[in-house]
Amino acid sequence: MWPPFSLNRPTTWMGLAALAAMLWLPLASLRLAALAVIVVALVDGWRQIKREHRRRLLSEEALKLSGDGVVISDRRNRIVSVNPAFTQITGYTREEVLGLDASTLSSGRHDKAFYERYWQTLQATGRWEGEIWNQRKHGDQYPEWLRVQACPDRKGRVGHYVGLFTDISRHKAREQDLRRVGFEDPLTGLPNRRRLHDLLTSRLNRLRAGEGLDLALVDIDGFKSINDALGVDCGDRLLARFGQRLAAFVAGGVVGRLGGDEFMVIRTTTFDDHEAWIAGLRDHLSEPFEISDNSLRLGLTIGSCRAPDDGNDSGVLFQRLESALYSAKRHGRNHDRRFRPSLEVEGDRQLALVNELRRALAQGDQLELHYQTQHRLNDGTLVGMEALLRWRHPEQGMISPGDFIPLAERHGLMSALGNWVIERAVAQLASWRANGMPRVPVWVNISALQLIQGDLESRLAASLARHRVPAQQLGLELTESVLLDERAGDVSPRLEALRRQGHEIAIDDFGTGYSSLAYLKRLPVDKLKLDRAFIRALPDDVADAAIVSAVLAMARGLNLDVVAEGVETIAQRDFLLEYGCPYTQGFLFARPEPVEAIEARYLNASQTV
Ligand code: C2E
Ligand code: MG
Ligand code: MG
Repeated sequence: MWPPFSLNRPTTWMGLAALAAMLWLPLASLRLAALAVIVVALVDGWRQIKREHRRRLLSEEALKLSGDGVVISDRRNRIVSVNPAFTQITGYTREEVLGLDASTLSSGRHDKAFYERYWQTLQATGRWEGEIWNQRKHGDQYPEWLRVQACPDRKGRVGHYVGLFTDISRHKAREQDLRRVGFEDPLTGLPNRRRLHDLLTSRLNRLRAGEGLDLALVDIDGFKSINDALGVDCGDRLLARFGQRLAAFVAGGVVGRLGGDEFMVIRTTTFDDHEAWIAGLRDHLSEPFEISDNSLRLGLTIGSCRAPDDGNDSGVLFQRLESALYSAKRHGRNHDRRFRPSLEVEGDRQLALVNELRRALAQGDQLELHYQTQHRLNDGTLVGMEALLRWRHPEQGMISPGDFIPLAERHGLMSALGNWVIERAVAQLASWRANGMPRVPVWVNISALQLIQGDLESRLAASLARHRVPAQQLGLELTESVLLDERAGDVSPRLEALRRQGHEIAIDDFGTGYSSLAYLKRLPVDKLKLDRAFIRALPDDVADAAIVSAVLAMARGLNLDVVAEGVETIAQRDFLLEYGCPYTQGFLFARPEPVEAIEARYLNASQTV
């Protein structure tokens, strides 16, 4: 900028006037005085230049220190100056950009209209502020928050543009992370249920003539036991790898995780080979997964359907996939099932049954408890009874607990049903204590949901107190899956407390879960009920014989009683006797019977059969 000092200062004008006067003043003394004024004006001007220079240096230093990028361009937008933060953010050195058009830095993300608005605002108001995407030297694009100020020259026209910008890519990433949380499963990075709904809808909307969607819901069999055996970290790793492998199978398709060990796969296709596709999917996942020195071969249960054949609404298709998966699960593990309308009819029937069960529970007259006695194996002495729930349906007759208990669990009726059983069994015990029946414990089955949702402990205590029955008389049977249900948390302290109250605790259906010795040692239990699946083929089946003898030996070592379930033949009894099994519950001795039949046999009679 020239001149480097202000012309508005009085000393400047006085100096100039004195210079002119020097030329025509006649007197030497007056000329001398004018010279003195000139000297004063020059000194003042010099000081002014030095001050201005210092000020400039200071503002340049300030710009250097600024963490914000600064870019100054001339009226034709050519860069005339940048600060070090500019270099840090963009990667361009000062020398590389001087003279370049500032628009060279743009990323191409914004359209023409954006830049038109930018220039209009800048010209109209002299300022622009907002988010803009630019490009760094090595090519990646980043968002910056930019403030631009137009600086007028002396004539009032725009002389320069000063731009100040901050790199906001980190904030943006955070924002994106937050957005992702709602739509992405954090463990696998795959779309979550909500996002899958959107993706399915958009795929459905974009189907062209002749195209369809294949959909599958894939569930890993026994995932919980993998988690229990190898630890949650391994379980997590397995889920992530599983997701990756699925994604590789449907390149161009969609893979998402619905939660837990349930994954969903969608592909758009013109082929009509749904079954072959499912078989391919199985095949693709059949290779073992290597997780921390373990080679895991997985069983998969798959429910599947096709769009638009089985529906063209994402909600309906989700429901149909779920009923197909549920039906496959009921069929046993490692099965797949494609949706059929009959499954829905089945679903409707089940819903009707749930409503009837709710009514039966409220009225109480269709439900009853049957009792199956337990005996000492060597001499048949009565040692206990198991209370088994029965539903006498007015039209369908006796419905097996195996059919309605899972329904009650799924539809939130299990706590009420469990409480009903406890209350009825304790009342029965009280009545038997009064009328002279043998005082053996009665065992009730406790479902996972009673442990999770219900107020099991207080219900037990209240019933026992009401009927004045000691807790020693009421044994509790819990299956391994109940004991391991993570929703119930660590059950050990609760079992411990129940035992302190006087209850005996048995592990029901032992052997069908993933019983490990370590886990048995940890749990405060008194008894194992060896599942009848191991007893059925005794004594001929070599493997079962080996398992049973091993369990018996192990139980002895751990000081646990064993009840063999489902003993139906003399040969089975003899085998068990030979290997030291103390107790049994099975048709060989007694079937579950209503109260009257039990009373007829035991009331005031000898305890043995
Ligand atoms: P569980 O607790 O293992 O009960 C034993 C089941 O085995 C009973 O079936 C019984 O009839 C059957 N059983 C006993 N001995 C033999 C035999 O020698 N051969 C054969 N083939 N079967 C035998 P049930 O009464 O159908 O009960 C099935 C399951 O339903 C029970 O298995 C239990 O898990 C559940 N359950 C029954 N009542 C209740 C209840 O009140 N609450 C809960 N949570 N579950 C219950
Ligand atoms: Mg039982
Ligand atoms: Mg059992």
